[in-house]
Amino acid sequence: MLDIKKLINNKKINQFHNSKEINFIVKSYLSDKINDQDMAAWLKEIFDNGMSINETIFYTDSIINSGQKIKFDNLDGYVLDKHSTGGIGDKVSLILGPILAACGIYVPMVVGRHLGHTGGTLDKLESIPGYNGLIDINSFKKNVKNVGISIIGQTNEICPADRKIYSLRDKTDTIASLPLICGSIMSKKISEGIQGLVLDIKYGNGAFLESKEEGQKLGELLSLIGSKFDVDVKYLGTSMNQPLGNFSGLSCEIIESINCLNGKGPEDLMKVVFDLGKVACSLAKINSAEEKMLNVINNGKAYEIFEKMVYEHGGNLNSLHCTYTDSIDIKAKESGKLQFINTKKIGEAINFINILTGKKDNSSGAEFFKKNNDTIDKGDVILRLFSNNMDNLRVAERLVYESYSIN
Ligand code: URA
Repeated sequence: MLDIKKLINNKKINQFHNSKEINFIVKSYLSDKINDQDMAAWLKEIFDNGMSINETIFYTDSIINSGQKIKFDNLDGYVLDKHSTGGIGDKVSLILGPILAACGIYVPMVVGRHLGHTGGTLDKLESIPGYNGLIDINSFKKNVKNVGISIIGQTNEICPADRKIYSLRDKTDTIASLPLICGSIMSKKISEGIQGLVLDIKYGNGAFLESKEEGQKLGELLSLIGSKFDVDVKYLGTSMNQPLGNFSGLSCEIIESINCLNGKGPEDLMKVVFDLGKVACSLAKINSAEEKMLNVINNGKAYEIFEKMVYEHGGNLNSLHCTYTDSIDIKAKESGKLQFINTKKIGEAINFINILTGKKDNSSGAEFFKKNNDTIDKGDVILRLFSNNMDNLRVAERLVYESYSIN
Protein backbone atom coordinates (compact mmCIF):
# COMPACT_ATOMS: atom_id res chain seq x y z
CA MET A 1 0.00 0.00 0.00
CA LEU A 2 1.52 3.32 -1.05
CA ASP A 3 1.62 6.10 1.47
CA ILE A 4 2.47 9.75 0.74
CA LYS A 5 4.24 10.33 4.07
CA LYS A 6 6.57 7.41 3.36
CA LEU A 7 7.18 8.67 -0.19
CA ILE A 8 8.05 12.13 1.12
CA ASN A 9 10.54 10.50 3.46
CA ASN A 10 11.99 8.42 0.65
CA LYS A 11 12.64 11.61 -1.30
CA LYS A 12 14.22 13.21 1.74
CA ILE A 13 16.86 10.47 1.74
CA ASN A 14 17.25 10.74 -2.03
CA GLN A 15 15.59 7.48 -3.00
CA PHE A 16 14.19 7.31 -6.51
CA HIS A 17 10.46 6.96 -7.10
CA ASN A 18 9.23 4.41 -9.61
CA SER A 19 6.44 5.12 -12.11
CA LYS A 20 3.79 3.51 -9.89
CA GLU A 21 4.71 5.79 -7.01
CA ILE A 22 4.69 8.96 -9.10
CA ASN A 23 1.39 7.95 -10.67
CA PHE A 24 -0.02 7.41 -7.21
CA ILE A 25 1.07 10.89 -6.06
CA VAL A 26 -0.28 12.75 -9.11
CA LYS A 27 -3.54 10.79 -9.28
CA SER A 28 -4.22 10.90 -5.54
CA TYR A 29 -3.59 14.64 -5.36
CA LEU A 30 -5.96 15.28 -8.25
CA SER A 31 -8.69 13.23 -6.57
CA ASP A 32 -8.13 14.95 -3.17
CA LYS A 33 -6.81 11.76 -1.56
CA ILE A 34 -3.58 13.60 -0.85
CA ASN A 35 -4.11 16.99 0.77
CA ASP A 36 -2.38 20.30 -0.08
CA GLN A 37 -0.11 20.09 2.94
CA ASP A 38 1.36 16.69 2.03
CA MET A 39 1.60 17.57 -1.64
CA ALA A 40 3.40 20.79 -0.74
CA ALA A 41 5.85 18.78 1.40
CA TRP A 42 6.50 16.43 -1.52
CA LEU A 43 6.97 19.35 -3.94
CA LYS A 44 9.43 20.88 -1.48
CA GLU A 45 11.48 17.65 -1.45
CA ILE A 46 11.54 17.63 -5.26
CA PHE A 47 12.44 21.33 -5.24
CA ASP A 48 15.36 20.63 -2.87
CA ASN A 49 16.55 17.25 -4.17
CA GLY A 50 15.46 17.16 -7.82
CA MET A 51 14.33 14.19 -9.88
CA SER A 52 16.21 11.80 -12.11
CA ILE A 53 15.51 11.78 -15.86
CA ASN A 54 13.38 8.66 -15.44
CA GLU A 55 11.38 10.22 -12.61
CA THR A 56 10.83 13.34 -14.76
CA ILE A 57 9.53 11.14 -17.59
CA PHE A 58 7.18 9.30 -15.18
CA TYR A 59 6.00 12.62 -13.72
CA THR A 60 5.32 14.13 -17.16
CA ASP A 61 3.51 10.97 -18.23
CA SER A 62 1.31 10.94 -15.11
CA ILE A 63 0.21 14.53 -15.72
CA ILE A 64 -0.56 13.73 -19.38
CA ASN A 65 -2.60 10.71 -18.24
CA SER A 66 -4.59 12.81 -15.77
CA GLY A 67 -6.48 14.02 -18.85
CA GLN A 68 -6.82 13.17 -22.51
CA LYS A 69 -4.23 13.28 -25.25
CA ILE A 70 -5.41 14.94 -28.43
CA LYS A 71 -4.85 13.39 -31.82
CA PHE A 72 -4.94 15.40 -35.02
CA ASP A 73 -5.18 13.10 -37.97
CA ASN A 74 -7.06 15.17 -40.48
CA LEU A 75 -4.83 18.23 -40.83
CA ASP A 76 -2.92 19.06 -44.00
CA GLY A 77 0.00 20.84 -42.34
CA TYR A 78 2.59 20.65 -39.59
CA VAL A 79 1.24 20.81 -36.01
CA LEU A 80 3.42 22.87 -33.72
CA ASP A 81 3.31 24.97 -30.57
CA LYS A 82 5.49 27.55 -28.88
CA HIS A 83 5.92 27.96 -25.13
CA SER A 84 7.83 30.30 -22.87
CA THR A 85 9.20 29.48 -19.43
CA GLY A 86 7.73 32.79 -18.26
CA GLY A 87 8.61 36.45 -18.30
CA ILE A 88 7.44 40.01 -17.79
CA GLY A 89 5.68 41.63 -20.71
CA ASP A 90 6.13 38.34 -22.55
CA LYS A 91 3.24 38.26 -24.99
CA VAL A 92 5.14 36.47 -27.76
CA SER A 93 2.72 33.50 -27.91
CA LEU A 94 -0.18 35.86 -28.66
CA ILE A 95 1.70 37.34 -31.61
CA LEU A 96 3.70 34.41 -32.94
CA GLY A 97 0.81 31.90 -32.73
CA PRO A 98 -1.39 33.72 -35.29
CA ILE A 99 1.63 34.53 -37.48
CA LEU A 100 2.57 30.85 -37.68
CA ALA A 101 -1.04 29.88 -38.33
CA ALA A 102 -1.12 32.42 -41.18
CA CYS A 103 2.01 30.74 -42.59
CA GLY A 104 0.14 27.40 -42.75
CA ILE A 105 1.17 25.79 -39.44
CA TYR A 106 -1.54 24.41 -37.14
CA VAL A 107 -1.12 25.73 -33.60
CA PRO A 108 -2.97 24.06 -30.70
CA MET A 109 -1.84 25.95 -27.59
CA VAL A 110 -2.48 25.02 -23.95
CA VAL A 111 -1.24 27.80 -21.66
CA GLY A 112 -1.15 28.62 -17.95
CA ARG A 113 -2.21 31.42 -15.66
CA HIS A 114 0.17 33.70 -13.76
CA LEU A 115 2.90 31.80 -11.95
CA GLY A 116 5.14 33.40 -9.34
CA HIS A 117 6.17 36.80 -10.67
CA THR A 118 5.32 35.97 -14.29
CA GLY A 119 2.13 36.75 -16.16
CA GLY A 120 -0.23 34.13 -17.61
CA THR A 121 -1.33 34.03 -21.24
CA LEU A 122 -4.77 32.78 -20.21
CA ASP A 123 -5.28 35.68 -17.75
CA LYS A 124 -4.36 38.10 -20.53
CA LEU A 125 -6.75 36.51 -23.04
CA GLU A 126 -9.57 36.55 -20.49
CA SER A 127 -9.27 40.34 -20.32
CA ILE A 128 -11.04 40.27 -23.72
CA PRO A 129 -14.74 40.40 -22.78
CA GLY A 130 -16.34 37.01 -23.42
CA TYR A 131 -13.15 35.06 -24.18
CA ASN A 132 -13.58 31.46 -23.04
CA GLY A 133 -10.26 29.69 -22.62
CA LEU A 134 -11.81 26.58 -21.10
CA ILE A 135 -13.67 25.17 -24.09
CA ASP A 136 -14.03 21.41 -24.59
CA ILE A 137 -11.60 19.31 -26.62
CA ASN A 138 -13.88 19.02 -29.65
CA SER A 139 -14.29 22.79 -29.94
CA PHE A 140 -10.54 23.21 -29.43
CA LYS A 141 -9.81 20.73 -32.24
CA LYS A 142 -12.39 22.36 -34.48
CA ASN A 143 -10.83 25.80 -33.95
CA VAL A 144 -7.35 24.49 -34.71
CA LYS A 145 -8.63 22.93 -37.94
CA ASN A 146 -10.78 25.85 -39.10
CA VAL A 147 -8.88 28.87 -37.79
CA GLY A 148 -5.35 27.46 -37.57
CA ILE A 149 -4.93 28.25 -33.88
CA SER A 150 -6.77 27.91 -30.58
CA ILE A 151 -5.49 28.94 -27.13
CA ILE A 152 -6.90 27.35 -23.99
CA GLY A 153 -5.88 26.68 -20.39
CA GLN A 154 -5.46 23.39 -18.56
CA THR A 155 -9.01 22.02 -18.30
CA ASN A 156 -10.69 18.98 -16.74
CA GLU A 157 -9.98 17.25 -20.03
CA ILE A 158 -6.39 18.35 -20.70
CA CYS A 159 -3.78 18.17 -17.93
CA PRO A 160 -6.10 18.76 -14.95
CA ALA A 161 -3.26 17.61 -12.67
CA ASP A 162 -1.00 20.37 -13.98
CA ARG A 163 -3.72 22.94 -13.25
CA LYS A 164 -3.92 21.82 -9.61
CA ILE A 165 -0.18 21.33 -9.02
CA TYR A 166 0.65 24.59 -10.87
CA SER A 167 -1.56 26.51 -8.50
CA LEU A 168 0.00 24.83 -5.43
CA ARG A 169 3.54 25.51 -6.69
CA ASP A 170 2.56 29.14 -7.07
CA LYS A 171 1.44 29.32 -3.43
CA THR A 172 4.35 27.33 -1.98
CA ASP A 173 7.35 28.85 -3.75
CA THR A 174 8.27 25.62 -5.47
CA ILE A 175 8.33 26.95 -9.00
CA ALA A 176 12.00 27.17 -9.97
CA SER A 177 12.68 23.43 -10.13
CA LEU A 178 13.85 21.95 -13.44
CA PRO A 179 11.81 18.68 -13.25
CA LEU A 180 8.67 20.46 -12.02
CA ILE A 181 8.88 23.09 -14.78
CA CYS A 182 9.65 20.36 -17.28
CA GLY A 183 6.69 18.16 -16.24
CA SER A 184 4.36 21.16 -16.25
CA ILE A 185 5.35 22.43 -19.68
CA MET A 186 5.85 19.14 -21.48
CA SER A 187 2.65 17.50 -20.21
CA LYS A 188 0.58 20.36 -21.63
CA LYS A 189 2.47 20.36 -24.89
CA ILE A 190 2.54 16.59 -25.43
CA SER A 191 -1.20 16.39 -24.67
CA GLU A 192 -1.87 18.80 -27.53
CA GLY A 193 -0.91 16.19 -30.10
CA ILE A 194 1.83 18.34 -31.66
CA GLN A 195 4.71 17.24 -33.88
CA GLY A 196 7.05 20.11 -33.04
CA LEU A 197 7.63 22.52 -30.17
CA VAL A 198 9.60 25.74 -29.96
CA LEU A 199 10.61 26.81 -26.49
CA ASP A 200 11.59 30.24 -25.33
CA ILE A 201 13.80 29.64 -22.32
CA LYS A 202 13.97 32.87 -20.37
CA TYR A 203 17.05 33.63 -18.31
CA GLY A 204 18.09 36.69 -16.35
CA ASN A 205 16.95 38.72 -13.35
CA GLY A 206 13.29 38.54 -14.42
CA ALA A 207 13.24 34.78 -15.07
CA PHE A 208 12.78 31.74 -12.81
CA LEU A 209 16.25 30.60 -13.86
CA GLU A 210 18.65 33.48 -13.63
CA SER A 211 21.72 32.05 -15.34
CA LYS A 212 21.97 31.28 -19.02
CA GLU A 213 23.64 27.95 -18.14
CA GLU A 214 20.71 26.85 -15.99
CA GLY A 215 18.34 27.86 -18.81
CA GLN A 216 20.38 25.74 -21.18
CA LYS A 217 20.14 22.78 -18.80
CA LEU A 218 16.36 23.17 -18.77
CA GLY A 219 16.32 23.42 -22.58
CA GLU A 220 18.26 20.17 -22.86
CA LEU A 221 15.96 18.41 -20.38
CA LEU A 222 12.82 19.62 -22.19
CA SER A 223 14.25 18.48 -25.53
CA LEU A 224 15.10 15.06 -24.10
CA ILE A 225 11.63 14.60 -22.62
CA GLY A 226 10.11 15.75 -25.94
CA SER A 227 12.10 13.12 -27.83
CA LYS A 228 10.81 10.38 -25.48
CA PHE A 229 7.26 11.36 -26.49
CA ASP A 230 7.98 11.83 -30.23
CA VAL A 231 7.89 15.61 -30.21
CA ASP A 232 10.67 17.53 -31.98
CA VAL A 233 11.79 20.25 -29.61
CA LYS A 234 13.99 23.23 -30.37
CA TYR A 235 14.74 25.95 -27.88
CA LEU A 236 16.17 29.44 -27.80
CA GLY A 237 17.48 31.20 -24.72
CA THR A 238 16.33 34.82 -24.56
CA SER A 239 17.13 37.45 -21.99
CA MET A 240 14.64 38.54 -19.35
CA ASN A 241 16.92 41.18 -17.85
CA GLN A 242 14.24 43.79 -18.50
CA PRO A 243 10.54 43.76 -19.40
CA LEU A 244 9.80 42.70 -22.98
CA GLY A 245 8.04 45.25 -25.19
CA ASN A 246 6.40 48.43 -23.92
CA PHE A 247 3.58 47.07 -21.76
CA SER A 248 3.02 44.47 -19.06
CA GLY A 249 -0.40 43.66 -17.62
CA LEU A 250 -3.64 42.19 -18.94
CA SER A 251 -5.67 44.05 -21.59
CA CYS A 252 -2.73 46.40 -22.30
CA GLU A 253 -0.73 43.34 -23.45
CA ILE A 254 -3.55 42.23 -25.75
CA ILE A 255 -3.66 45.72 -27.25
CA GLU A 256 0.12 45.69 -27.70
CA SER A 257 -0.10 42.25 -29.35
CA ILE A 258 -2.73 43.55 -31.78
CA ASN A 259 -0.42 46.44 -32.65
CA CYS A 260 2.40 43.96 -33.30
CA LEU A 261 0.14 41.88 -35.56
CA ASN A 262 -0.61 45.08 -37.45
CA GLY A 263 3.08 45.83 -38.01
CA LYS A 264 3.50 48.33 -35.18
CA GLY A 265 5.41 46.27 -32.62
CA PRO A 266 8.39 47.45 -30.56
CA GLU A 267 11.76 46.31 -31.80
CA ASP A 268 12.86 44.15 -28.83
CA LEU A 269 9.58 42.24 -28.79
CA MET A 270 9.44 41.70 -32.55
CA LYS A 271 13.03 40.44 -32.54
CA VAL A 272 12.04 37.61 -30.15
CA VAL A 273 8.92 36.92 -32.25
CA PHE A 274 10.97 36.61 -35.46
CA ASP A 275 13.82 34.63 -33.88
CA LEU A 276 11.42 32.03 -32.47
CA GLY A 277 9.33 32.12 -35.65
CA LYS A 278 12.36 31.20 -37.75
CA VAL A 279 13.02 28.19 -35.50
CA ALA A 280 9.35 27.16 -35.76
CA CYS A 281 9.39 27.44 -39.55
CA SER A 282 12.56 25.38 -39.75
CA LEU A 283 10.82 22.57 -37.84
CA ALA A 284 7.83 22.85 -40.18
CA LYS A 285 10.17 22.90 -43.21
CA ILE A 286 8.96 26.32 -44.34
CA ASN A 287 11.59 28.25 -46.33
CA SER A 288 12.15 32.03 -46.43
CA ALA A 289 10.60 32.22 -42.98
CA GLU A 290 11.26 35.87 -42.23
CA GLU A 291 9.85 37.00 -45.57
CA LYS A 292 6.72 34.87 -45.09
CA MET A 293 6.16 36.11 -41.54
CA LEU A 294 6.55 39.74 -42.64
CA ASN A 295 4.17 39.10 -45.50
CA VAL A 296 1.36 37.76 -43.29
CA ILE A 297 1.75 40.77 -41.01
CA ASN A 298 1.73 43.25 -43.89
CA ASN A 299 -1.20 41.67 -45.74
CA GLY A 300 -3.31 41.52 -42.56
CA LYS A 301 -3.66 37.72 -42.54
CA ALA A 302 -2.01 37.22 -39.14
CA TYR A 303 -4.29 39.74 -37.46
CA GLU A 304 -7.33 38.30 -39.23
CA ILE A 305 -6.51 34.89 -37.72
CA PHE A 306 -6.13 36.37 -34.24
CA GLU A 307 -9.51 38.11 -34.63
CA LYS A 308 -11.14 34.92 -35.85
CA MET A 309 -9.70 32.87 -33.00
CA VAL A 310 -10.98 35.36 -30.41
CA TYR A 311 -14.41 35.32 -32.07
CA GLU A 312 -14.55 31.50 -32.02
CA HIS A 313 -13.76 31.60 -28.29
CA GLY A 314 -16.67 33.96 -27.69
CA GLY A 315 -14.51 37.05 -27.26
CA ASN A 316 -15.48 40.53 -28.37
CA LEU A 317 -12.53 42.66 -29.44
CA ASN A 318 -14.80 45.69 -29.92
CA SER A 319 -15.31 45.79 -26.15
CA LEU A 320 -11.62 45.38 -25.31
CA HIS A 321 -10.34 48.39 -23.40
CA CYS A 322 -7.66 49.55 -21.03
CA THR A 323 -9.31 52.33 -19.04
CA TYR A 324 -8.08 53.17 -15.59
CA THR A 325 -8.72 55.80 -12.97
CA ASP A 326 -5.29 56.01 -11.36
CA SER A 327 -1.66 56.00 -12.36
CA ILE A 328 1.74 56.62 -10.83
CA ASP A 329 4.75 57.74 -12.86
CA ILE A 330 8.03 56.27 -11.67
CA LYS A 331 10.55 59.05 -12.26
CA ALA A 332 14.35 59.01 -12.19
CA LYS A 333 15.70 60.54 -9.00
CA GLU A 334 19.07 61.17 -10.62
CA SER A 335 20.67 61.28 -14.04
CA GLY A 336 22.69 58.41 -15.50
CA LYS A 337 22.37 55.05 -17.23
CA LEU A 338 19.36 52.87 -16.46
CA GLN A 339 19.74 49.21 -15.57
CA PHE A 340 16.92 46.88 -14.49
CA ILE A 341 18.65 44.88 -11.77
CA ASN A 342 15.66 42.99 -10.37
CA THR A 343 13.03 42.72 -13.09
CA LYS A 344 11.17 40.15 -10.96
CA LYS A 345 10.02 42.99 -8.71
CA ILE A 346 8.20 44.54 -11.66
CA GLY A 347 6.49 41.21 -12.32
CA GLU A 348 5.47 40.96 -8.66
CA ALA A 349 4.15 44.53 -8.74
CA ILE A 350 2.14 43.88 -11.88
CA ASN A 351 0.67 40.57 -10.73
CA PHE A 352 -0.28 42.32 -7.49
CA ILE A 353 -2.29 45.07 -9.22
CA ASN A 354 -3.67 42.71 -11.89
CA ILE A 355 -4.89 39.81 -9.86
CA LEU A 356 -3.39 39.13 -6.45
CA THR A 357 -5.56 41.52 -4.46
CA GLY A 358 -8.41 39.05 -5.12
CA LYS A 359 -10.17 41.34 -7.58
CA LYS A 360 -9.02 41.06 -11.19
CA ASP A 361 -8.34 44.46 -12.74
CA ASN A 362 -8.09 43.91 -16.48
CA SER A 363 -7.05 47.50 -17.11
CA SER A 364 -4.09 47.50 -14.75
CA GLY A 365 -0.45 47.20 -15.73
CA ALA A 366 2.61 49.19 -16.65
CA GLU A 367 3.97 51.10 -19.63
CA PHE A 368 7.74 51.22 -20.04
CA PHE A 369 9.38 54.32 -21.47
CA LYS A 370 13.02 53.41 -20.91
CA LYS A 371 15.16 50.34 -21.52
CA ASN A 372 18.48 49.05 -20.15
CA ASN A 373 21.47 51.29 -20.93
CA ASP A 374 19.28 54.28 -21.86
CA THR A 375 20.79 57.52 -20.64
CA ILE A 376 18.20 59.33 -18.58
CA ASP A 377 17.89 62.70 -16.88
CA LYS A 378 16.62 63.31 -13.37
CA GLY A 379 12.83 63.57 -13.55
CA ASP A 380 12.43 61.42 -16.67
CA VAL A 381 9.55 58.95 -16.47
CA ILE A 382 10.98 55.42 -16.50
CA LEU A 383 7.63 53.67 -16.37
CA ARG A 384 3.97 54.29 -15.56
CA LEU A 385 1.91 52.02 -13.32
CA PHE A 386 -1.85 52.18 -13.84
CA SER A 387 -4.93 50.56 -12.30
CA ASN A 388 -8.33 51.31 -10.81
CA ASN A 389 -7.12 51.35 -7.22
CA MET A 390 -4.64 53.89 -5.87
CA ASP A 391 -3.87 51.88 -2.70
CA ASN A 392 -2.78 48.91 -4.82
CA LEU A 393 -0.64 51.18 -6.96
CA ARG A 394 1.18 52.46 -3.88
CA VAL A 395 2.18 48.88 -2.96
CA ALA A 396 3.30 48.23 -6.54
CA GLU A 397 5.28 51.46 -6.60
CA ARG A 398 7.42 50.33 -3.65
CA LEU A 399 8.24 47.06 -5.40
CA VAL A 400 9.15 48.79 -8.65
CA TYR A 401 11.62 51.12 -6.92
CA GLU A 402 13.66 48.01 -6.03
CA SER A 403 13.79 46.85 -9.66
CA TYR A 404 16.31 49.26 -11.22
CA SER A 405 19.40 51.31 -10.61
CA ILE A 406 20.80 54.41 -12.26
CA ASN A 407 24.57 54.50 -12.53
N1 URA B 1 5.40 27.49 -17.69
C1 URA B 1 4.65 26.42 -17.36
O1 URA B 1 3.70 26.06 -18.05
N2 URA B 1 4.96 25.73 -16.24
C2 URA B 1 6.00 26.08 -15.45
O2 URA B 1 6.23 25.42 -14.46
C3 URA B 1 6.76 27.21 -15.80
C4 URA B 1 6.45 27.91 -16.93
